[in-house]
Amino acid sequence: MIVTVSKHKNMPSIDAEFHRKLYRRHFQGALIRSGACLFMWVAAWVALFFGAIQSYHFTGITISILYLILVNPPTLWILKKITDRHHIELLSLLINFLEILGYTAIIYLLGGMEGAYLTPIYAALIIYVGVVAPRKLTFIIASFCASCFSLIVLLEYFNILPSFATFNRNHLPFVNQATQLFAVIAILFVVAFISSYTAQLLRQNRQKLREQNMALDKANHSKSEFLANMSHELRTPLNHIIGFTELLLDKNFGELNESQEEYLCDVHSSGNHLLSLINDILDLSKVEAGKLELQPSSVNLPELFKNSLTMIKEKALKREINLSNKLNGIRDTITADERKLKQIMYNLLSNAVKFTPNGGHVSISAHAYNREDGKVSATDNNNNSGIMVRVTDTGIGINPENLDRIFSPFEQVESSKSRKFNGTGLGLSLTKSLVELHGGRIWAESEGIGRGSTFYFVIPTTPESIPSDSEM
Ligand code: ADP
Repeated sequence: MIVTVSKHKNMPSIDAEFHRKLYRRHFQGALIRSGACLFMWVAAWVALFFGAIQSYHFTGITISILYLILVNPPTLWILKKITDRHHIELLSLLINFLEILGYTAIIYLLGGMEGAYLTPIYAALIIYVGVVAPRKLTFIIASFCASCFSLIVLLEYFNILPSFATFNRNHLPFVNQATQLFAVIAILFVVAFISSYTAQLLRQNRQKLREQNMALDKANHSKSEFLANMSHELRTPLNHIIGFTELLLDKNFGELNESQEEYLCDVHSSGNHLLSLINDILDLSKVEAGKLELQPSSVNLPELFKNSLTMIKEKALKREINLSNKLNGIRDTITADERKLKQIMYNLLSNAVKFTPNGGHVSISAHAYNREDGKVSATDNNNNSGIMVRVTDTGIGINPENLDRIFSPFEQVESSKSRKFNGTGLGLSLTKSLVELHGGRIWAESEGIGRGSTFYFVIPTTPESIPSDSEM
């Protein structure tokens, strides 16, 4: 129902869109035409200078070029004003026809059949029309060009029009002229055919790509929707399992023997693992479905970093991993989604601790990020456009060729060392989505296996001053 309504609502805007496209095409055409005209004028001027043409040729060419340039503003103005589709189509045909007249005048002034070397101007116009306009129009334009050219050659041959030959040669016999004329006409139609055929193939491929993209989008959307729904359905019973297991483990319903306690601990930790997997899938599918939105607020960075370290402190203490935190003169507050920023920090820090052997070191540092020169700057903390956060560890490291791969869903780097670590392979992919949702970028660096890793992410200080991918 919604589709039908919006379709009807959009009906008039289809014409507006068509009008806009056609106007843009003619505007582009006018620019190309004016550029080509100026080029021709310079060439004519050079020809005059070297005596290849006479001053009356030059004057005629200058007038034709002026006509070709001056015809643009009024025709474009009329094209912009009229709205009737039929009139628009007629006017755009007329614009092409006026253009052909101008080119024909130049060819005529340079000797008619003698000026046949200029017929590639027609070919250029036919190719342009072939690419941007329907197939039929290409052949109509080719016919216009062929008729205009034939007409001046014939009228000149039969002395109905005066001759402006540049070489002062006698006319070729009629048979020769007719043969050349047919050859030019044939070439113009071949050009029309090739350009319209190529354009048709391009159009078909574009349409196919559009359809495939739509099908892919639809499939992706359905998948995300399915995952989001399934995750919801799975989370409720799973929370029951975890909750009741906790109650049993707390011995609220009586003592447990050793095996019962051990098995319940297994159920509890597996349940928690499954829950974190489902939560990650739910968040990821929400991001993909465009349903995860930023809820920006003022975030106190020193506090956020302190709290993030507190979240992993216990794990790190158990494994004698040293934690440190360094803020290099950054501003205290930024505008961001605090919950998501916490999630980003937690994912990176828990990975750093997980993949660092006992007695290692994990540190976080933050710098001002200056978008203008793309460099990290710790000097000017008021005038910067972003914050760069760095999480470094002395852990198992990452093979440089896997540095991009690890950000894809379910990618766990296949090395015998990392396989002993449990995880879902979704944390970094979700982290990347959350950073990108802020308009930022994340990447990793490592000198190789066993040599530690550093994860960097950059986010703008306000979600509006987002540095785009290409800018960073
Ligand atoms: P997982 O749940 O497996 O940790 P992630 O998406 O968080 O999933 O990480 C993907 C993979 O990237 C990990 O399995 C690991 O191979 C690699 N990785 C992530 N962080 C680190 C790190 N700090 N040091 C070494 N390898 C890491």
